[in-house]
Order: sequence, then structure tokens, then C-alpha cells
Amino acid sequence: VDLGGYLQDCAQELQFDMEKKGVDFGLRELPEKKLLVQADREKLKRVLLNVIENAIKYSDKSGCTIRMAMQEMDGMAVIHIEDNGQGIPEEALPHIFDRFYRADPSRNTATGGSGLGLAIAKQIMEEHGGRIGATSTVGRGTTVYLALPLHQREQGDKRA
Ligand code: ATP
Ligand code: MG
Repeated sequence: VDLGGYLQDCAQELQFDMEKKGVDFGLRELPEKKLLVQADREKLKRVLLNVIENAIKYSDKSGCTIRMAMQEMDGMAVIHIEDNGQGIPEEALPHIFDRFYRADPSRNTATGGSGLGLAIAKQIMEEHGGRIGATSTVGRGTTVYLALPLHQREQGDKRA
């Protein structure tokens, strides 16, 4: 899969839905180089949707901004999904990919959810030989990154 093209398609598909929800959603400029990865498009979509759903759910109703970006780093293609939501406390950050974990459940009961979204995302990323992680500042927002190993294309290889 050409990851840049794939993200452009996803972003375009999501745009209408995001506008309806009043979310300022966009894809940043992509690197000129094509980044090829081996991935199941449907599963990758699941990961993106789970992360984006969180970005919307854990932000103020007034003005949620989400930006996707992609870059190459150490033989991996890395997708960043950045939001300007409530952020995640430092002590909760190591646990957000655990099954059924929800940071500050009392505050979150209103938003609902089972705490599985990111656990599923993590499982899918690992199936792809990739990684998922997050950085966050309470009150400022969260960035989730998804790293996938680059596919080494051989001469005349039409796959990926
Ligand atoms: P589900 O996705 O199953 O409906 P959920 O959203 O609670 O439930 P996860 O998606 O796994 O579960 O997220 C785990 C927890 O991490 C959330 O409950 C929330 O506390 C925190 N979290 C995840 N993404 C964000 C984000 N973008 N901003 C702030 N907190 C987040
Ligand atoms: Mg979720």
C-alpha cells in the first residue's frame, strides 16, 4: 500500500462526516517520496477510526481540531494523529493501550466506551509488525503515532 495515497483517500472519505460533526480535520503535507507498506487496508482503517473517534470524544465540543501527518523515520512510515483535546495524564499514558482501561472513568462515564478501541488498534499494529504510541499534555492535546515497517520493493515487484 502506498501509505500517502491511502491516507489521502481516507481523509477525503472522512471529510464530509467531520464537517457534519463540526470537527476541523485535515491531512498535512505529505513527503514527496512514496512510502510503501504491507498492510490490510480495512484493518488500518479500523485503527485510524478508533484513534480519530477518541480525538473527537475526548475534546471540548467547541472546536475540535485533528491533524494527520506522515513521515519516514528509521525505516518506518510513521503516521501522526494530533488533537487539541483534554489530553491524558502522564500516569495514565502507559495504560491507554490496555484492554478495558479508561483514564479517569468517573469523568469519562458520560462519554461512554468500553476501553477497547486502542487495545484493538495496538493488536492490529502488532499484526503488521508495527507500533503504536502516544504523547500528550493535559489541557493541550494528544498525539497518537502509528509506525509501520517500510516495504522493501524489489525490482519489478508489483505487490504492496
Ligand atoms: P472505546 O474506544 O472502546 O469506545 P474508550 O475510548 O474509552 O472506549 P480507548 O479508545 O481504548 O477506549 O481509549 C482508552 C482511554 O484513553 C480512554 O478512555 C481515554 O481516557 C484515553 N484517551 C484515548 N485517546 C484519547 C485522546 N485523544 N485524548 C484524551 N484521552 C484519550
Ligand atoms: Mg476509543
